[in-house]
This record gives sequence, C-alpha cells and structure tokens, in this order.
Amino acid sequence: MPKQLIVAIDGPSGAGKSTLSKALAQRTGYTNIDTGAMYRSVALLASRRQIDPANEAALGSLCEDLAIDFIREGDRERVIVNGEDVSDAIRTPEVSLLTSRVAACPAVREAMVDLQRKMGEAGGVVLEGRDIGTVVFPQAQVKFFLSATAEERGRRRYEELRAKGLDVDLQQTIAEVEARDAADSAREHAPLKQAADAVVIDSTRMSIDAVLEEMVRIIARRREEVME
Ligand code: C5P
Repeated sequence: MPKQLIVAIDGPSGAGKSTLSKALAQRTGYTNIDTGAMYRSVALLASRRQIDPANEAALGSLCEDLAIDFIREGDRERVIVNGEDVSDAIRTPEVSLLTSRVAACPAVREAMVDLQRKMGEAGGVVLEGRDIGTVVFPQAQVKFFLSATAEERGRRRYEELRAKGLDVDLQQTIAEVEARDAADSAREHAPLKQAADAVVIDSTRMSIDAVLEEMVRIIARRREEVME
C-alpha cells in the first residue's frame, strides 16, 4: 500500500470538486489531478480537428498523441496539451457539452483511465472526477462524493463563468448543468455513480471552508488508520 494516500473526489458538475481538491492538495502537499480537464482537452482537440464525437476510432487515435501536463503557477493551475496552454479554452460552455459526449466513448475512457492510474498509483494524490472511487482507483483509501442541488450547482457555474467575463444566462446555465449530469449518469461506460464506501457531503448550504475542514479531518483520521 502506498505510504501516501489516494484521495478520490467524485460528484456532479458544480458541486465544488475543483475548488476543494485544489485546496486539499495545498493543505496536504499532495498533487491535484483534475480528470475533467483531461476529458475536456480531448473534446477541445476533437472539435478543432472536426472529429465527429460518434467516431470512436478517430477519438481513440487522437488520445494516442495527446500529452497532458498540469503546471502550478502560484495559485493557478494550468493545463498544457501538446505544449499549448488550453486552461481557458477547455472551460467554455460549448466544450463542456461536447466533453460529455466524448467522455462516453470507451476508447477515450480507457486511454484517460490508463493515464490517471499512472499519475496516481504512487499515492500522495487528490483526483477529482466522476468515476475515480468506482473505476479508476476503487482501492483509494479516502473517497468523497460531493453533491448539491442542481439549482445551486448551476448558480455556482454561472458566477464562475460571469467572473471570467462570459455573457451567460442563469437559467440556461442551470439547464446545461442538468443536461450534462443526466448524460454523465446515464452513459453505459463508467457513469457518474457514488461508490458504496464514499463519504457523501451535501454542500448546498455549507461554505467551502466548512466542507474543506470536514474533508481535512476525515483524511487525517484515515491517514492514522492506514499508517498504524
Ligand atoms: O469536472 P468537469 O466538469 O471539468 O468535467 C467535464 C466532463 O468530463 C464531465 O461532464 C464528464 O462528462 C467528463 N468526466 C468524466 N469522467 C471524469 C471526469 C470528467 O466523464 N472522471
């Protein structure tokens, strides 16, 4: 068993996974792996190369020549794909919707899961996604499932996009978040699902700080148990 833990954070979009996994990584000194950014990168390249999201063979070969790196710049984390900084390009609403379609493709999932296992197998990592505790690392020593109502998650996404200067509509953002969750939950391969042994945290009425403290406490307790 790795000395340092594998921490899995799953949940629907807008539940606070990104903010919390970054904050947790900072507190624990672990590496944060944003698996959503990996699927988003595949979608971005597929759209630029005009690959049909139903064309599994083309998506599979796209994944073969994909180099993804995460670089921390102060507080910000940058996503570098084949040498290009795509951090902002992968966050548009269009790429978000396309990502759910691309992420349903088995060849894409296989390639990304392989990469994620290589990045995380030594431990000392916080991975956030949809299938980390169920498929990627079912043996993770700590598993969280973050949730919040669709309305609250849509509102958070809306604030985030507005802060970036994007001209978005609140009701439409809530509808998009709901559509993406429905697609992620209903897909055949590795759907968004809560692991039986995950700690569920509903953040609808909790501040990010309160959720963070709760998670830090749970990790510290698990670390003691595992090290004994
Ligand atoms: O977490 P984020 O919103 O960036 O994820 C974007 C999309 O990537 C999700 O809606 C989902 O379709 C896909 N995804 C996935 N499995 C993961 C992480 C993300 O299918 N582990």
